[in-house]
This record gives sequence, structure tokens and C-alpha cells, in this order.
Amino acid sequence: MFRKILIANRGEIAMRLIRCMKEMGIDSVLACSSEDEDSLPAMMAAETVCIGPAPAAGSYLNQAALIEAAKATHCDAVHPGYGFLSENAEFARKCEENGLVFIGPDADTIKLCGDKEHARELMKKSGVPTVPGSDGLVPDEEEAAEIADRIGYPVLIKASAGGGGRGMRRAVSVEEVRQAFRDARAEAISAFGDGSMYIEKEIQHPHHIEFQILGDRFGNIVQLGERDCSIQRRRQKMIEEAPAQILSPRLRMKMAKAAVEAAKAAHYVSAGTVEFVVDQTGKFYFIEMNTRIQVEHCVTEMETGIDLVREQVRIAQGMKLPFRQSDIHPSGHTIEVRINAEDPEHGFAPSPGKIRFVHFPGGGGVRIESAVYTGSRISPYYDSMIAKLIVHASGRQEAIHRMRAALEELTVEGVKTNIDYLYLIMFHKDYLLCRFDTSFIEENTDRILKWDQTSRKRAGLQ
Ligand code: ADP
Ligand code: ADP
Ligand code: MG
Repeated sequence: MFRKILIANRGEIAMRLIRCMKEMGIDSVLACSSEDEDSLPAMMAAETVCIGPAPAAGSYLNQAALIEAAKATHCDAVHPGYGFLSENAEFARKCEENGLVFIGPDADTIKLCGDKEHARELMKKSGVPTVPGSDGLVPDEEEAAEIADRIGYPVLIKASAGGGGRGMRRAVSVEEVRQAFRDARAEAISAFGDGSMYIEKEIQHPHHIEFQILGDRFGNIVQLGERDCSIQRRRQKMIEEAPAQILSPRLRMKMAKAAVEAAKAAHYVSAGTVEFVVDQTGKFYFIEMNTRIQVEHCVTEMETGIDLVREQVRIAQGMKLPFRQSDIHPSGHTIEVRINAEDPEHGFAPSPGKIRFVHFPGGGGVRIESAVYTGSRISPYYDSMIAKLIVHASGRQEAIHRMRAALEELTVEGVKTNIDYLYLIMFHKDYLLCRFDTSFIEENTDRILKWDQTSRKRAGLQ
């Protein structure tokens, strides 16, 4: 059994992990940058080790320093959270080589799934539907143009190593495809050090629907239901909810089965997510498998009552899943919004700075995940997400009302945030009627920002 775990992350996910370890009777050692030494997780962890300077390259991405910190503090395991090194196969392997359990799948699985084109080929072989596109990698722009012409526009040119919406470009015509290929490849090389590219047909107005998976070392794989993450800006999720209203019970079952097949094909162990796009006719296609705890994992926790981080730790300790598929009964409706320090009025530019005052909502069915407190600083060095607000209620309408009330109560002073913007979405007719897809934000931002005075007044913003 683990006695001590190194937390190789920061912010709200570090808090989430530390809280879980406390409940499990495990000590946490927070590995943080010099920028985060006075952060909330640094205060809450049993021990804190400074592993380097503010820029992530020297700290949160510094593999040697993290392993050194884990060994020096006699940790048994490392939890990577999300982002940073969470999907880095080399880091997972180095942990194992140094006698540290990496809390996640093994290095080979991370490598397999992290290579998105490879994962796609594996899914094709396993009978999981994938988006029509290239067979294998696309070596150059000439071949990219040929393939795009064959499958038809628009296409998405994707980096096999991509993540967080980076290394991806859209092309609507043969004129665009060469430039798009060059741009996507250049971005992939600078962000991931890998310019391997593939092409998918762009599915028009899809929903992003993903399934949460848990797998143990005994080959048991359970799916914990889906999340609709279609409200995205620049391919980054902004609002997530479950259950997905567009799924009929029959389609949900088909997709859940495909998700389990996908996890089985990858011999998946730990918590993971199988992502799909679903088109307007209800056809679904695998896009990728994420081998980490996700930002939006709390949605599934609220629906199922299962603590996903706790299960990740138990699985890493070699324990069997304590439930079977027939024990999983998601209930009610959950919505999560990501609160970011950013300025929607100015292109969602990040807005770092000191939090002069913060008040979080509470009450039944309201959950906050955050590391922010009055007087804390939002660093310009890291992601702009400052909190997740999750509400759970009996149905979707009730959840929306609860979300409105919670957003009215939530107060953040000192930095710009997207709180009002999210609040207005909770009044948007198309959102209320579930008439949204992954283009919702792009198509509605101008309207939401210009929302006339009366609507804003009605929504309580003026
Ligand atoms: P999720 O699928 O969990 O919603 P996101 O795409 O929002 O994940 O990414 C979660 C976090 O991880 C974000 O802060 C994002 O910037 C970061 N991230 C995602 N993929 C990568 C990657 N390959 N390398 C570095 N950071 C990443
Ligand atoms: P990342 O690794 O950056 O998360 P994904 O392959 O998961 O990249 O794609 C990110 C987002 O882009 C998806 O959530 C979806 O909204 C959109 N997307 C991806 N592939 C397609 C596709 N073939 N057609 C339409 N939209 C897509
Ligand atoms: Mg994705």
C-alpha cells in the first residue's frame, strides 16, 4: 500500500489529488515551482518540494527534478494529474525504473494512445468506427493534397502527437490544404517535438461525446457513462455535461460498447477517456483516447458517486475494481463550467493578476474545485483556468437553474473572468433546447457579448 505520493502538478488538480490522498490516509508531497510555493496546495500537502523556476520547462516538465524529489522524500508513487507530464510515456517509464509507481497506464499504453494516428489504426482493426481519412501517416503536403481531394473538404490535418487542440488545422479547399499542412506540422514540431501528421474528414456540426473508462490489472474494464463536451472554444472544452441529451438509449449503448472495445484493444489499465464525435444523423466516430484523469472527470463522479482519483490510486496499487458494469447507475444531471481568468470582451485574452477577493457558491449539489483564495495570484506562466464549478440536480433544467444561482453567487475580483459569459450561455435559447454542437461558441460569441441591455438586465448582469 502506498504511504506517500508525489503530486507532480499544480492548481485545482493538485488540490483535488491532495484531498483524495488525505481521505485515503496517504501523505502527499507537492512538487511545485518557485512561483507556486505559497499556493494553496503547497499549504495543504504534508510536504512541499520546490523543483524549479516558474517556466514549466524547468519545473513541472522537469522529469529529473521530479524523480529526484520523489526519491528524496521517499514517495512510493507519482500522480501526474492532467496536462504537463501526464501523457508522457518516457516519464512513466522513468518513474518505474526508479521504483516509483506512475499512477496511470503503463508507458507502452501511453505511447500507443498518445500516438493518435497509431491509436486510430488500432481502433480500425478492432472494429471501432473511426473518422474517414488517411491510412497511416501523411509524409508531405503533396500527399496531403491528394488525400484531401479524395476524401472531400473540409478536412482536419492533425498532429499524431497533438493535444489541447494544438497541431490541428482545417482546410476547406485544395488551395488551403498545403499551407494548412505546413502550419499544423510547424506547430506540432514546436509544441510536441514531433511532426507526424494524419488527415481526417471534418464531421459537420458534431457533438463531442466521450466515455469514462476504468480498467484494472485483471482485465476488468467498466465504462462510467458519457459526457457531452461540445461547448468548446478553439477545440478547448468550456462546458461539459452528462448525460448527453442527443443520445438515445440505443445509441448510448452502442457507443458505450465501442468505448469498452477501444479500451480492451489498448489493454487499458487505470482511468481513461475514449473520445468520439457524433454527427447530425447519429453516426459516431472515434477520435482519440486520453490516458489520464481529465479536467471534466468530476461530471462523472457526480453522476455515478464514484471517486475516480481514488480508483486510479487503488488500481495503481494492484487492486481489483470494487464494482462491475451492472453496479454503475449514473443518475440526475450534471453540468460543469470552467472558470478562466480571461477577458471574453478581448478575444478571451488571459488575465493574470492578484485575486483581491473571491467568494465561492455553496449549497446542495454545488461543487467547486479550485486552488484560488483571496490574496492569491493567478500566474501568467500557466493555464488560465482558476476554478471548476460543477452542479448536480435531478434533471437538466434543474441543473441549469442551479448553475445560474451558483454563478450569481460566485464572485472573483482582481482579474477578468468568463463568469458573466458562462452565465449568459445558461440563458441562451439554443443551449436550453440542446440545439448546440462544437460550433456553438464560434457562432454565438458575438451575439452573447453584444447581448442587448434588456437581456443582460434580465440575466441580472446590469
Ligand atoms: P481534457 O480533455 O481533460 O478536457 P484539455 O484538452 O482541456 O483536456 O487539456 C487539459 C489541460 O492539459 C489543459 O490545461 C491543456 O492545456 C493541457 N494539455 C492537454 N494536452 C496537452 C499536451 N499534449 N501537452 C501539454 N499540455 C496539454
Ligand atoms: P486533442 O488531442 O487536441 O484533444 P482531438 O482529436 O480530440 O484533439 O480534437 C479536438 C476537438 O476537435 C474535438 O473535441 C472536436 O471538437 C474537434 N474534432 C476533432 N476531430 C474532428 C473531426 N474529424 N470532425 C469534426 N470535429 C473534430
Ligand atoms: Mg481530445
